[in-house]
Amino acid sequence: MGLLDKIPGELNLFIGGLFTLRRKQALQDSGITHVVSVLRLPLDQEQFKDFAHKVVEVDDVDDENLLEHFPACNKFIQDGLDGGGGVLVHCAMGKSRSATVVCAYLMQRYGITPMDALSQIREARPFCEPNEGFMKQLDLYHSMATPENVEETPAYQRWLYEREVEMSRACGQAPAPENIRFEDEHDQGTSPADYELRCRKCRRTLATSLYVVALHKNTKDQQPSRPGSECSHYFLDPLSWMRPELEAGKMDGRLECPKCKTNVGKYAWQGMQCSCGDWVVPGISLAKGKIDEVKSRPAGSAALGIRMPPSSTGRKGGPGQQNL
Ligand SMILES: [Zn+2]
Ligand SMILES: [Zn+2]
Repeated sequence: MGLLDKIPGELNLFIGGLFTLRRKQALQDSGITHVVSVLRLPLDQEQFKDFAHKVVEVDDVDDENLLEHFPACNKFIQDGLDGGGGVLVHCAMGKSRSATVVCAYLMQRYGITPMDALSQIREARPFCEPNEGFMKQLDLYHSMATPENVEETPAYQRWLYEREVEMSRACGQAPAPENIRFEDEHDQGTSPADYELRCRKCRRTLATSLYVVALHKNTKDQQPSRPGSECSHYFLDPLSWMRPELEAGKMDGRLECPKCKTNVGKYAWQGMQCSCGDWVVPGISLAKGKIDEVKSRPAGSAALGIRMPPSSTGRKGGPGQQNL
């Protein structure tokens, strides 16, 4: 293990830290033609004058979005290797950020898992260790099959939205409207809904089982915090009819049926405790007392009731304009 470590295998791919850049001779001897700098520091451009250079400005912290840079980094690395040169990926220490970028490349090139990629790197540089957030991003990248267009992937968009909610919790501000993901606007033709949730008063369909938050009801292994107490809410993903209210920039508020204006639920970005004792974040809920659960009609008609083009949500005089 040295300042400049070659990834074991056929590729002229190297990993290092800031000090690696000072080893001019070593870089030259290794045939380095391309350098990826993965860090947010003022860099002396002079030292990159002999290389094709790409900078990815991220800090080594869990919540940095390194995932969005994977496709461009992979392409840059690929170009360098295809041109017959060598590629150095470096960060400050050559431990977390650079290892993450190299992992992403190896995963895409060889179709291997993040752990397999990391093991390969560690053969040359044992202390490589993507931080926890980067490791999750590698897992996510793997689960979406290392696409070229990460940003168009539903799994990525959902992850972005979850980050946004997490951030908004931390700083006590509602998520920016453009970052709220209205799940019914991204229908991927999934399985048909089992049931619909309708406004008890006017019968408008407000959601289907597809948009009920599964985490709350299904995946909890532990006993409910308050045994014996039933859930009095349906927790939902954001849906288009809530748009005027959820985009109003408030941390919490009420949800009205868009048709009859009955108060049917509430939301709180910082989360909400269900009557069963569970916390759900973000908490976007319909009160069971205001809702009828109806078995879904045959396939094809299930989603129609809740779809509502943005133009008809009424920026003027629509539901959002009524102060609660
Ligand atoms: Zn509950
Ligand atoms: Zn209604």
